[in-house]
Amino acid sequence: MSNLEMPVRYIKGVGPGREKILNSMGIFTVFDLLNYFPRDYEDRSKVTPIINIVSGHKVLAAVKYTGRYKVLRPRNGLSITKLYVTDDTGYATLAYFNQDYIIKNFIAGNYYLIYGDAELSFGEIQIKNPDVEPIRKDINHYLCIYPVYSLTKNITQKVMRGIIKEAFLYLDEIYEMLPQELLSKFKLIDVKTAYKNIHYPDSMENLERAKRRLAFQELFEVMLYLNILKLKRETIKKGILFSPCDEDEFVKLLPFKLTNAQIKAWSDIKQDMESERPMNRLLQGDVGSGKTVVAAMAVYKAVKNNYQAAFMVPTEILAEQHYSTLTRLLAGQGIKVGLLISSLSAKEKNNILDKIAKGEIDVVVGTHALIQDNVIYKNLGLVITDEQHRFGVRQRSMLEQKGDNIDVLVMTATPIPRSLALIIYGDLDISIIDELPPGRKPVRTYLVDKGMREQVFNFIETHLKNGEQCYVVAPLIEESDKLDAASAEKIYKELSGKFTGFNVGILHGKMSKEEKDYMMRQFKENKIHVLVSTTVIEVGVDVPNATVIVIENSERFGLAQLHQLRGRIGRGDKESYCFLILGNNNSEVKDRLKILTQTNDGFKIAEHDLKLRGPGDFLGFKQHGMPAFKVASTYLDNDILEDVFKAVRYFIETYGLDTLTATKMVRIIEDKWGFNEEDIALN
Ligand code: ADP
Ligand code: MG
Repeated sequence: MSNLEMPVRYIKGVGPGREKILNSMGIFTVFDLLNYFPRDYEDRSKVTPIINIVSGHKVLAAVKYTGRYKVLRPRNGLSITKLYVTDDTGYATLAYFNQDYIIKNFIAGNYYLIYGDAELSFGEIQIKNPDVEPIRKDINHYLCIYPVYSLTKNITQKVMRGIIKEAFLYLDEIYEMLPQELLSKFKLIDVKTAYKNIHYPDSMENLERAKRRLAFQELFEVMLYLNILKLKRETIKKGILFSPCDEDEFVKLLPFKLTNAQIKAWSDIKQDMESERPMNRLLQGDVGSGKTVVAAMAVYKAVKNNYQAAFMVPTEILAEQHYSTLTRLLAGQGIKVGLLISSLSAKEKNNILDKIAKGEIDVVVGTHALIQDNVIYKNLGLVITDEQHRFGVRQRSMLEQKGDNIDVLVMTATPIPRSLALIIYGDLDISIIDELPPGRKPVRTYLVDKGMREQVFNFIETHLKNGEQCYVVAPLIEESDKLDAASAEKIYKELSGKFTGFNVGILHGKMSKEEKDYMMRQFKENKIHVLVSTTVIEVGVDVPNATVIVIENSERFGLAQLHQLRGRIGRGDKESYCFLILGNNNSEVKDRLKILTQTNDGFKIAEHDLKLRGPGDFLGFKQHGMPAFKVASTYLDNDILEDVFKAVRYFIETYGLDTLTATKMVRIIEDKWGFNEEDIALN
């Protein structure tokens, strides 16, 4: 056994008590400890002379204690101990709050290293509650960049730093998994130095090098794994060979001409389906770009080849919507469409299940109900999931396992910058619909101060009178003491009865499925004219008659989410308007949201979001069924991604898929990330 796998209690300074605390932080072994990276750093590598100290900064100073101090008691229960210190350049005071005992730590005439927040107070430099270290050796011995760890309350930074330093004893055993050629090719430092420097960097530059190396490795591991998997699937697995059929006839019957982007995406899909390797394709396209039609063509092809298709969506509302769209598009071709959702009665459900098993239904649309054990398909050949990011990879693969090396198409309307998509969806081929159907008018978007709400509602009223409909979105369902933000319930009350002759409805996640569906249907049928809602309307709902959306406290939403919400309108041929109401006047917020007023292009917005907030939100575990990156989620730029792509390609070209080196690498990665073939692989 390697020492890295030793329980932490074998580390000097860790007894049973501390072991418990470390365990509660998810640290069990020495290796876990070394992988507990700092959340931040304190730069204590340079001493600042007192004369150069500026207010409002953390400073490190080397000072002599003059022996003078005073204790102030400005009011009951508060004491301030002030110690007067000096260096060659000036005087300063150290101020400790409620720590009268501190005075015992200082000896007049001795030198101390002081680290804390500096403040100019009544003409004197004051350092508040500083850390103190007596200077006993050469000063250089003390200068360093300290790690700051996320800790629970029973352990201090000092203790944690000490423990980690002890664990450095075993640094040498950390395995260098990147081949030497890659290290030199991409100017990466070796793994041991990287681990040492991410905890105790000897300079900020070396800290960057350590982060780059470790981020590189994380991205490399995940990408390499997904790529090897993809290539293996392509070479080994025999999928279904769908024959060419009369799709063109089907296309001719559509009430519109396909866009070039749709034609291109369809040609990718058709090629996949007609080849013998199983299709694993992601179809990415902004809201309203016409993915559903393309999906319907794939369904058509599968059914004409005597296979069944399953179409999984995240919500019942969406399921019903796709059910009616597919019925409209396909029923005329003699294709039988079924709907399987959990709110069906037991009898209805059994009836559908029976038909699926007998092959009397050709394509079934549904929610998670589709992957339950009781669903048995006669001859499943194609699986489509919509709004893929709402499903974990596992749910996807459960659906795929209902058939034999079937073709898989996943769709998403969440635009992700191309570079990131290659990581997140590294095991998939990607087609992008980057063009909207012609005649679509871009949504006009405005940032509006709260004070202008009344005018916005007047604007709505004129549109209601034109026979159009409107959404009003709020961040909360009900009023909250803790959050100062608009709630759907309050706005619903405010707006009910406001527009004479028009009905207002409410939709939120706490309502039962029946209530939600009822409300949505009322809105679709234009019986409700203003729908007040939370973000539950975010996904794919299609009511072309809705032309205005008002988003309250829009500062509380992410850019991608606002873009999704805005996608609820502009679906017809009328001019549409989006009002982003600002809960405050913060100029940073305005700057962040401004991009939405400038473009309707989801990919541009996503790129902007990536620059602004970093990749953490895109690389989130839950959203994409991806593991949480530790370093890469805060350290990422296009340069590193380019390099990682090159490195992955180089590795596969050099070592292949089945060599000892490749197999070993895959095993290490599976171990580290908890991947297994079934989670990620689809068959
Ligand atoms: P998505 O699923 O990508 O959000 P949909 O497939 O729901 O988009 O399409 C949005 C709307 O545009 C639908 O009403 C659809 O009928 C229509 N549509 C799709 N493709 C075209 C096209 N090429 N020309 C005109 N309208 C189209
Ligand atoms: Mg859609």
